[in-house]
Amino acid sequence: MSELKVSALDDSTLNPILAPMNALGHEHILFCNDSATGLKAIIAVHNTVLGPALGGTRMWHYQNEQEALTDVLRLSRGMTYKNAISQLNLGGGKAVIIGDSKSMKSEALFRRFGRFVNTLAGSYITAEDVGISPEDMVHVSKETKHVVGLPGKSGDPSPITALGVYVGMKAAAKYQFGSDSLAGKKIAVQGIGHVGGYLVDFLVKEGAHVTITDLNQQALQAIQNIHGVDVVAPDAIYDVDMDIYAPCALGATVNDQTLAKLKCSVIAGAANNQLQDEKKHGLQLMEKGIVYAPDFAINAGGVINCFSEVEGLSLEWSKQKAQEIYSTIASILTRANQEQIPSYQVANKLAEERILSKGSLNI
Ligand code: NAD
Repeated sequence: MSELKVSALDDSTLNPILAPMNALGHEHILFCNDSATGLKAIIAVHNTVLGPALGGTRMWHYQNEQEALTDVLRLSRGMTYKNAISQLNLGGGKAVIIGDSKSMKSEALFRRFGRFVNTLAGSYITAEDVGISPEDMVHVSKETKHVVGLPGKSGDPSPITALGVYVGMKAAAKYQFGSDSLAGKKIAVQGIGHVGGYLVDFLVKEGAHVTITDLNQQALQAIQNIHGVDVVAPDAIYDVDMDIYAPCALGATVNDQTLAKLKCSVIAGAANNQLQDEKKHGLQLMEKGIVYAPDFAINAGGVINCFSEVEGLSLEWSKQKAQEIYSTIASILTRANQEQIPSYQVANKLAEERILSKGSLNI
């Protein structure tokens, strides 16, 4: 991401926590420790110019505190950009709980975490992320109302994320091929989990020629049985003859190795942080003439779904809002062409411009 400008402080005078906060423009970090429950967590509020900072809680077995801090700073900043470009009145935040999600979970730990979230008085709203289940969030909600994505409320965001990816892919196709029809287009979907599975439904319905891959053989078989799509091994996906590559599994799959192989004309998928090195690979995509729909713009359906719960809006509203991702991607690609800069840079600029139009960036 590009430069959100920050305060005049000289980083060399700051410690290992304030220096990255200052460099990335964070407002507030809360370190949470509770020996009774074993809770060790970090909540990072990056920016609240547009509204309360919303972003999920991740539970992960980080090697050390520094790794956890780096992750939460990066992820919370990403949420600021995602929420801003999606025209939501939300800032960006994120939380990480340090620990093994398979062995360390307890009601007490999540309730203690909820009390820490509550001390932020609504400047941070949490939700689930990697390693966290809706049931964990129910425990959090016993201690704070600043939590979304609870069972029986806005629910699983994946269908709305998939809808946004689908319409964003159509906008990218229109830009690249002159038509937004995906009928007959060869589309390779990497990862057919929550989002990828729903995306395949949309693509098959429109008549695309879909190839899928996943590490989960059972899931692959199930989708193949329903739709009769082609299946390849995980490592073979980059060699498939395709018009569109849809990364819906992990980040960083656009890198030196895969760029040497990928024969697609469009990249449009749900995964976060798709470009291993944003500057380098974003520029290479532009030079190769591959149209890239920036990840945080095209996969914003999930946070749109969370926002609907914050504001008490309907599922219909979320669907309508996710459809706007079509015009967001179209305007990013048009502007990238006009300014002759990579599309990721335009997405960053649009997010920054929206924040600057409402307030300052330091933020
Ligand atoms: P998921 O865990 O349900 O599905 C991911 C799938 O990818 C799994 O089936 C997994 O087996 C597969 N996978 C993992 N590594 C793979 C590999 N090397 N090759 C092939 N397949 C592999 O996750 P999800 O909720 O569908 O999310 C997919 C991506 O979209 C993630 O990067 C996530 O961060 C991002 N995202 C999701 C949402 C959402 O609403 N769920 C919103 C925004 C962004």
